[in-house]
Amino acid sequence: MKLANLLVAAALALTGMTAQSAPAAEERDASDLRVHLLGTGSPLPETFRFGPSTLIEAGGKKYLFDAGRGVIQRLYTLGIPFNEVDKLFLTHLHSDHTIGVPDLYLTGWVRGRKVPLQVWGPEGTARMMNRLAEAFDYDIKVRLDQNPGSKVDAVDVGPGVVYEQDGVKITAFAVDHPPLESSFGYKFEYQGRTVVLSGDTRYNEEVIKNAKGADLLVHEVAAASDELMKTSPVIPKILAKHTLPEEAGKVFTEAGVRMAVYSHIVLFDVTEKELEARTRKTYDGPLVVGRDLMTFDIGDKITVSTTEPKE
Ligand SMILES: [Zn+2]
Repeated sequence: MKLANLLVAAALALTGMTAQSAPAAEERDASDLRVHLLGTGSPLPETFRFGPSTLIEAGGKKYLFDAGRGVIQRLYTLGIPFNEVDKLFLTHLHSDHTIGVPDLYLTGWVRGRKVPLQVWGPEGTARMMNRLAEAFDYDIKVRLDQNPGSKVDAVDVGPGVVYEQDGVKITAFAVDHPPLESSFGYKFEYQGRTVVLSGDTRYNEEVIKNAKGADLLVHEVAAASDELMKTSPVIPKILAKHTLPEEAGKVFTEAGVRMAVYSHIVLFDVTEKELEARTRKTYDGPLVVGRDLMTFDIGDKITVSTTEPKE
């Protein structure tokens, strides 16, 4: 068993499930949903955990949520053609969630995307995307390939249904990530299955409300050691903008989700084992501490697998 598989097995030990290889496309139930954790990290430029980004596949189409650092590398490793990722939903405009957008936008176009990159996000999204197109206009002009893939099609949205097509319904809901006025979580519904992404938030009842009975809840988490909470002038302020493991556990329990997954994991002198132990104070259901390149196949059962990073 390779290291990454061992880690998945360890992550699943608490849930009584076993890690196994992802089923081939033709073996999967047509109604199934697939969720890939592309980046599960913090703003730090770690190579083990890239920036926050999650890809959902449903009905043969792809929907990307946030595009943190390394998004294109993770898609490459998964063998997902960049040109097929043409729909991006942003939770908020902090740079750790958007720094991979230019790479997705331009590399996706150069590698064959024939339609504009469509982007939905909170206030400021359209402005950011239009300015990005302007920032790279030299490259866009000098290339001979002037198809619509070099363009952006971005829109600012508010809470509510932001996308409804091909049997997929995507709803943005407001979460609480001070000092931002506008930060979203997303609810993704397809053929009776639901995946919810918390976005960046401190403990928030809206996540519970939207994740009631969800198949998968992908939630952010942040934690620090007692020592750092007492001595650091900065860390308690960072944690006040995010969700502690005990609080996340409460969200998982109250929402009654089939499986809880941590992504966007921010730990200060706290081990993953401690993260799990602290979550277990308030939640005893299936829990996975996410890692980059984990894939969840959501059908009558939820299968978790992982892909080896490319050298
Ligand atoms: Zn963040």
